[in-house]
Amino acid sequence: MRSADIVIIGAGISGAVLAEQYAKAGKKVLVIEKRNHIAGNCYDYTDENGILVSKYGAHLFHTNEEQVWEYVNKFADWYPWEHKVLANVDGSLVPIPVNITTVNALFGTAISSEAEMKDWLDENRQAVDAPADGREAALNKVGPVLYEKMFRHYTKKQWDKYPEELDASVLDRIPVRTNYDDRYFSDTYQALPKGGYTKLFERILDHPNIEVVLNIDFFEIREQIEGYEKLFYTGPIDRFFDFKHSLEDKLEYRSINFVSETVDTEFFQENSVVNYPGQEVDFTRIIEYKHFGSQQSEKTTVVREYTTDEGEPYYPVPNPKNQEIYEKYRDEAALVLDVYFVGRLANYKYFNMDQAFKNALDLFKALEKDVDITLTP
Ligand code: UDP
Repeated sequence: MRSADIVIIGAGISGAVLAEQYAKAGKKVLVIEKRNHIAGNCYDYTDENGILVSKYGAHLFHTNEEQVWEYVNKFADWYPWEHKVLANVDGSLVPIPVNITTVNALFGTAISSEAEMKDWLDENRQAVDAPADGREAALNKVGPVLYEKMFRHYTKKQWDKYPEELDASVLDRIPVRTNYDDRYFSDTYQALPKGGYTKLFERILDHPNIEVVLNIDFFEIREQIEGYEKLFYTGPIDRFFDFKHSLEDKLEYRSINFVSETVDTEFFQENSVVNYPGQEVDFTRIIEYKHFGSQQSEKTTVVREYTTDEGEPYYPVPNPKNQEIYEKYRDEAALVLDVYFVGRLANYKYFNMDQAFKNALDLFKALEKDVDITLTP
């Protein structure tokens, strides 16, 4: 029999933040994690080449939320890192998000000002007021040629769906720039934690009131857990309810098969991430971790990402059908007493890391209005 004031299923962002907040509020917290490590999909480690790599894909922190930035700075020193991505299109490497350089490289134009870039986009894009799906969203931004070259097939590889089968929000994640800005994000704060994310999570969870147990599947010990005030569940929502609303149509998730390779050379590619939006290869992108934080080592580690339906769920698949199934679970979840569903998998939402931090902090505040943990050490 296990008990604690607060039981948390999953040691990713949502779980760790809630654990930390409740521990500070004087509660005994038990975190139950199925994997053999903390930090959820942010987990990173030093590999055989001495390079800090992320087990579940590159995680680039960016936020405009002061509150989140302040929070994460309590647990790690962060160094500025403005992420950039190149896309391999027709054999040349061009910036993504699309900017002036991208258009000049792919169309042989000589655009040199924002006004000219705006004119080019106005001539090429297929403007719609409210894009109904991912295809309309991308056509609205960049027009059919760039859509075909940079978005259509990448999306098919990433989701096993064409953009028209996905919500507009998926393609709307990527902006279009009318200048030379080649940063992937434009948020005020863009940084990586010194020493990596796993260290950050170790520090968040480092509190005498927190007990973390690894390698335990909550569903195998569910009956043994009792006497808690609140339980926070951060796993897939359909799993919690034994997939009862998924008998006809499953709630879909995408997973990634990471294929890692050591290459005996100083650098394999000129940038940390190179996307392959074409059909000539099956993978979506190649990550070379050594670039992050300018790490030194004789060899280099590169990871090709193949997105798949099989394996651990990483991405919810945002479209109307999945939303409909999710809502059945959500309505049921609202009726479960003292259990709260938090995070990307339990809320079935494509949250960025900073949103996950914010949601967990906000949830704590909303549930514990009278508790002031700012005074607690
Ligand atoms: N996308 C694309 N081509 C690219 C990069 C992204 O078509 O080169 C589309 C694709 O549908 C992807 C979405 O834009 O799923 C959002 O991209 P993002 O980089 O935000 O995805 P993540 O890093 O979360 O995998």
